[in-house]
Parts: sequence; C-alpha cells; structure tokens
Amino acid sequence: TYALEIEGLVKNYSDGFQALKGIDLQVRKGDFFALLGPNGAGKSTTLGIVSSLVNKSGGRVRVFGHDIDSELSKAKVNLGVVPQEFNFNQFEKVIDIVTTQAGYYGIPLKQAKVSAEKYLKKLGLWDKRDTPSRMLSGGMKRRLMIARALVHEPRLLILDEPTAGVDIELRRSMWQFLEEMNRQGTTIILTTHYLEEAEALCRNIAIIDQGKIIRHTSKRELLQQL
Ligand code: ADP
Ligand code: ADP
Repeated sequence: TYALEIEGLVKNYSDGFQALKGIDLQVRKGDFFALLGPNGAGKSTTLGIVSSLVNKSGGRVRVFGHDIDSELSKAKVNLGVVPQEFNFNQFEKVIDIVTTQAGYYGIPLKQAKVSAEKYLKKLGLWDKRDTPSRMLSGGMKRRLMIARALVHEPRLLILDEPTAGVDIELRRSMWQFLEEMNRQGTTIILTTHYLEEAEALCRNIAIIDQGKIIRHTSKRELLQQL
C-alpha cells in the first residue's frame, strides 16, 4: 500500500469551474514528496480533498490503504494537515490549541499534554504555551500549525505551501525540522510553487498545471532534464 494514492480525482467548483481534471498520484511510505506547480494549478484543491475539507466531484483517495469515502476515520488517524491559512481561535492559548486537537482523535488528556509538550518544545514554542494565538508572530503561528498537525503522531504529514511568507531563517529551520521528521519515518507531502523548495527537500516530485499532473518523477531525473 501507498501512504497516499489518488485516482482520477476531479473537482468541479459550484461556479462550474473544473479545478481538477483527473489527477492520479501515488506517494510511497517514507517518501518526501512535493506537489509543485504555479498558482491556481490545483494544489490546494487536491490537498483540501485529501484532508476532507473540500468535497470531490469524482475519483478515489486512499490514505495508507484507507478510502476516505468508506473509512474516513481510519484515514484521518494517519493524517496530519497544515493548511495554508491560519485557522486558530484567536483567544485560545497555544497549549490548549494543541491539546484540544489531540482530543478530536480521542487521545486522553494526560497523553495529549505529553504529546503537546513534546511538539511545542521541538518547534520552539514551549515558552509561548500560555500565550493566546493572536499574540504570536506569523512564523510562530506557522510552527503552531505544525505542532497541532503532529500531536496525534500521524504517519503522513501534509503541508500546503508551508513556507509561504516565511523569512529565510525560519524557512531553513522548518526545512531541517521536516527532514528530521522524515528521517524518523513520517511520510511528508508538501505543495510549493518554488522549485528551489522542492529541490532542497523532496525525493519525488509531481508537477501539476491547470488541474492535471504533467510530470511525476524523481528529483534526480527532473534536475537532469532541466
Ligand atoms: P464547494 O464547491 O467545495 O462547495 P464553493 O464553490 O461553494 O465550494 O466555494 C467555497 C468557498 O470558496 C466560498 O466561500 C467561495 O467564496 C470561495 N471561492 C470562490 N471562488 C474562489 C476562487 N476562485 N478561489 C478561492 N476561493 C474561492
Ligand atoms: P493552487 O493551490 O495550485 O494555487 P487552487 O487549488 O487553490 O490552486 O485553485 C485551483 C483553481 O481553482 C484556481 O483557478 C482557483 O481560482 C479555483 N478555485 C479555488 N477554490 C475555488 C472555489 N471555492 N470556487 C471556485 N473556484 C475555485
């Protein structure tokens, strides 16, 4: 089984626009994978469907073999998602944002606290644990989204443009963090419109344009052909 398998994925938005025109994608367990493409290509729509934030119009999605239509809760346990936009309760404290998320997966509070501490420390946010999220800088909010996505220790972490609007220093430290997670066995998929980011991090790359996958290749192969 693959970490993520997508077959014939179609999305027609309610205004009639077809954002995805039959996407096929396989991501192996343990991979570090980039979905690369220009703005408007369909990257967020694809990830939105995988994380069941967006309804699909056709096709199939499996996460570690679990179909999101028939086995959604099993698929979700294996999946952590870092969306592009901040979507925190502005007044909730950092620590509560992370432990509450663990609660959605049925993790007991005691264990949730241990896991929240672990990831807030890894991401350099432990000192901010009692701060309401609205008081955080943009870079801190982004790290908080990653901690929240990891609190249930998913096997697959998906990030939508994780370093958009992030300064170079934080970008590098996020890259290091993600590489470390991947070394420890977490499969990672990110979207990006920076070839440089895909190049720095990823082993395999799919290029999406106008709702279609136009290349599905290893980084090495891609670079040899540029
Ligand atoms: P769905 O078909 O998944 O129900 P909708 O078409 O109803 O999605 O739109 C969901 C939201 O996205 C709406 O709030 C809408 O305003 C917003 N939206 C509409 N067009 C665009 C666009 N081109 N890019 C991004 N968001 C959009
Ligand atoms: P990317 O993440 O690659 O920038 P998106 O998946 O956000 O691309 O968008 C793909 C296409 O779908 C774009 O043309 C966008 O304008 C359109 N789109 C996104 N959301 C909506 C929506 N809710 N309603 C209508 N069109 C949308």
